[in-house]
Amino acid sequence: MNIHHIGVIGAGTMGNGIAQVCALAGLEVTMIDVSTAALERGLTTLTDSLERLVQKEKLRADEKSAALARIHTSISYEELRSVDLVVEAATENLQLKLRILCDIEAVVGGDTVIASNTSSISITQLAAVLKNPARCIGMHFFNPVPLMALLEVIRGLQTSDTTHQAAIEFARAIGKTPITVRNSPGFVVNRILCPMINEAIFVLQEGLASPDEIDAGMKLGCNHPIGPLALADLIGLDTMLAVMNVFHEGFGDPKYRPAPLLKEMVDAGRLGRKSGHGFYQYGGH
Ligand code: NAD
Repeated sequence: MNIHHIGVIGAGTMGNGIAQVCALAGLEVTMIDVSTAALERGLTTLTDSLERLVQKEKLRADEKSAALARIHTSISYEELRSVDLVVEAATENLQLKLRILCDIEAVVGGDTVIASNTSSISITQLAAVLKNPARCIGMHFFNPVPLMALLEVIRGLQTSDTTHQAAIEFARAIGKTPITVRNSPGFVVNRILCPMINEAIFVLQEGLASPDEIDAGMKLGCNHPIGPLALADLIGLDTMLAVMNVFHEGFGDPKYRPAPLLKEMVDAGRLGRKSGHGFYQYGGH
């Protein structure tokens, strides 16, 4: 499948990163959001990100201008008429995503691949809302999208081989390394990462070591670039709790129960970097 024109739904953290990477790879991009204000915010973030690359001499000024010229924005789904592939990267909410997928299918051509960047919703469940669920696939990008090399490609039960092949080709065309994953809560990376972080919180709760010592242990003993508690603060403790709850409910296995300390931190409003206080304190708060 030849992919020239991409639709991106949502101009937020992930959407504008996906748009940036696609435009830099030479693809035409149409980015959709619900308001011009949201689109402007996304475009500003994206433009600043490209400018930083120019400052670091990783990108020429004319390449930046050419990439920006390939990005079109709209609040109308009608603008998706001629796209070859759409990546839905809107707010993580099942009902919202189901509606968006139907809105996409109503305007795009019959061969257009419809992908979702959801972190926690079942691709099989999302695909089932479409008239043609075989064209639906998960494309789980990592934050920040321009820097992270991985793309998890998630096959729902109904995803066709053609759709899968198109997703793999697309991943490579935009410079990402794809891994193929069967649909399951948390896919592969978060399934492994989040229980590890949750275990670090149990270790802290049991008083085995201090946050600094736990993080130093995993950095120096396992060569992780960041300790699990510092990473939890970066991800957001509310997000961590939501993910562990998805695993706990999805698998029905007590090994995924969230650490009580994680729940308590969230109840206290200690959400990590975003609230200025998590397992560590952050300046300015
Ligand atoms: P975000 O809140 O930064 O952005 C979401 C955007 O979607 C907002 O700009 C919002 O206005 C827009 N939106 C809402 N309804 C819409 C609609 N009907 N049509 C078009 N746009 C609409 O969220 P985010 O962090 O970019 O997350 C987006 C998706 O990516 C979620 O599914 C999330 O689970 C997933 N994800 C996030 C991360 C991360 O680290 N942030 C990593 C991987 C995957």
